[in-house]
Amino acid sequence: MADPAQCSIKVVCRFRPLNSSEVARGDKYIPKFNGHDCVHIAGKPYYFDHVFQSNTTQVEFYEAVAQKIVRDVLEGYNGTIFAYGQTSSGKTHTMEGKLHDPDMMGIIPRIVEDIFNHIYSMDENLEFHIKVSYFEIYLDKIRDLLDVTKVNLSVHEDKNRVPFVKGCTERFVCSPDEVMDAIDEGKNNRHVAVTNMNEHSSRSHSIFLIHIKQENTQTEQKMTGKLYLVDLAGSEKVGKTGAEGTVLDEAKMINKSLSSLGIVISALAEGSAHIPYRDSKMTRILQDSLGGNCRTTMVICCSPSSFNDAETKSTLQFGQRAK
Ligand code: ADP
Ligand code: MG
Repeated sequence: MADPAQCSIKVVCRFRPLNSSEVARGDKYIPKFNGHDCVHIAGKPYYFDHVFQSNTTQVEFYEAVAQKIVRDVLEGYNGTIFAYGQTSSGKTHTMEGKLHDPDMMGIIPRIVEDIFNHIYSMDENLEFHIKVSYFEIYLDKIRDLLDVTKVNLSVHEDKNRVPFVKGCTERFVCSPDEVMDAIDEGKNNRHVAVTNMNEHSSRSHSIFLIHIKQENTQTEQKMTGKLYLVDLAGSEKVGKTGAEGTVLDEAKMINKSLSSLGIVISALAEGSAHIPYRDSKMTRILQDSLGGNCRTTMVICCSPSSFNDAETKSTLQFGQRAK
């Protein structure tokens, strides 16, 4: 891996606490933390740019991981933050948390607040145009969460060869409240369309895009930055026996998209000449917001329970490969 100070790809790891049913079952708390960048599972060390212990608060995590990316996006960089991990490891807690609770909200609502606070404090010659999109990828189909009639959108490239989801709703927003309304609406749409939301969210990737364009009205200088915030499908392996039909198709699609993502991230981290973006829809969409001149952070979310040790090891391994 390149010098971490130079490298635009960061991989951090976050452990959630044991939950009450794990405690009731008598599960053991298995991670042993060593310094701020290492965790041992069953004696084996795993290294990251940062390891966050179970008692890390939402605001601490935000300040350590996401705050800097907001500055960068306002300076015209593109960026992506992913949450990776098995179902119930804390991905949605990390990305969204409790959306309207100042203490418990995750990084998305904090990013939104921070963006507008920066804008309000900036030079009045700067004019901002902010738009958001919200979609999910399920069974390799892209569904617009801000317009339920759009259920199978495709990825195109514009004249500068920048990929985009064709026809996806772009909602112009002028305040943090308007962004949060869009998120609430999208989450609501997602709920309405499916019978079991927990199962569905563990099998689909949800992607929230914030696009910021600024123009200096005196110099007419323009700048844009994009930030993708991705809550990935659960990384757990579906049992090999018994899975058939849709469940098997889902498992295959998820495995394929998560492994292509891992391959792209590790190729970027190694500085490879060929980056296989075209191998999955997600990496195609994110192409101009990963690696290189972008800010990319992968959050590896883990359960601390002895019950999940096999999945936790494979999650940590995925995160190591990405470095
Ligand atoms: P995932 O999205 O990976 O399936 P969730 O984010 O929904 O997992 O987390 C599962 C449960 O654990 C939720 O009830 C969530 O509030 C709780 N949880 C996750 N991470 C933490 C944490 N760091 N601290 C406290 N509770 C957490
Ligand atoms: Mg979730």
